[in-house]
Amino acid sequence: MYPRPFHYHRASSLREAVTMLSQLGEDARFLAGGQSLIPLMKLRFSNPSHLVDLSFVPGAAYIKQERSALHFGALTRHSEIENSATAAMLPVLHDCAAGIADVQVRNRGTIGGSLAEADPSGDWATVLLTQETELRCLGPSGERTVPLRGFITDAYTTVLGHDELIQEVIVRIPPPGSGGAYLAFKRSAPVYPTASVAVQLTMDGGVCKDAVITLGCVGLTVVRSEGSEAALRGHEIDDKAIAAAMEAARAAADPQADMRGSVEYKRVLVAALLKRAIEIAMRRARGEQVEVSHIYA
Ligand SMILES: Cc1cc2nc3c(=O)[nH]c(=O)nc-3n(C[C@H](O)[C@H](O)[C@H](O)COP(=O)(O)OP(=O)(O)OC[C@H]3O[C@@H](n4cnc5c(N)ncnc54)[C@H](O)[C@@H]3O)c2cc1C
Repeated sequence: MYPRPFHYHRASSLREAVTMLSQLGEDARFLAGGQSLIPLMKLRFSNPSHLVDLSFVPGAAYIKQERSALHFGALTRHSEIENSATAAMLPVLHDCAAGIADVQVRNRGTIGGSLAEADPSGDWATVLLTQETELRCLGPSGERTVPLRGFITDAYTTVLGHDELIQEVIVRIPPPGSGGAYLAFKRSAPVYPTASVAVQLTMDGGVCKDAVITLGCVGLTVVRSEGSEAALRGHEIDDKAIAAAMEAARAAADPQADMRGSVEYKRVLVAALLKRAIEIAMRRARGEQVEVSHIYA
């Protein structure tokens, strides 16, 4: 299906894009990679009269390390992160970027668009919520920095104003002895996961000093499994601790039954993914290089 007719505007700076959106009003939307917005427009679920394209703004896509953080311009494509040596400092970012859909989607879709879309099945929020992540946002009244942990308020809903955009995603580099992992189970590459799990561990020898665990696609927003974290934090990570973390994840998951599986199936799946993700995160915390690929049905 074709979208309804709309006016196309090309912004030459992020500030100009914000001004344009303010002037064009509620019927205008930012356009980044178009990998969520254009399909929704073709299905006529979203019918903006004006699109303000951010893709041609110079300097809005970059990956750089500054002191103890990685900085991503909002227009950075998934594939740029997948192939970046700088982003590879945090292997969990590669796990995520390399597993999003197929190469066509990864070549167009952006990290900023993905977070702004706040799709409950999107990969980036699940992963970045295990990290200390902040978003530098720009609106008509200037800049503000928002922690990702308070950014997504509901499915497809964020704290962004209508004419406010994400300009940069900042991810703190975790302390030494840390390791993360992200695993998703998918029916095929160009579909969203059935369920996913992200784990970030900080280890002191065999003992877990800290753990952050999030579950994707099993709730209206990313689910933080605090029970799983408590099962690991302060303990040796042995079979018993992992079993307790899995049980807590099953309980924390709040999935909907759909064509991808029943509620119970998704709960079992999320627990199984968590076991594997913990094992990979522990190995990475020890300094091992571990390649991760999503699991396909
Ligand atoms: C076939 C297919 C499969 C996919 N599979 C997956 C998957 O497995 N995992 C996954 O995570 N994603 C998946 N996606 C979605 C993809 O990752 C998109 O890239 C992402 O959701 C949106 O990014 P975008 O740059 O394309 O944003 P757009 O589609 O251009 O915009 C999305 C929304 O965000 C707003 N927006 C865009 N940029 C900004 C900004 N900087 N600041 C504020 N608002 C902004 C737009 O106004 C719009 O409302 C899939 C997409 C397709 C088409």
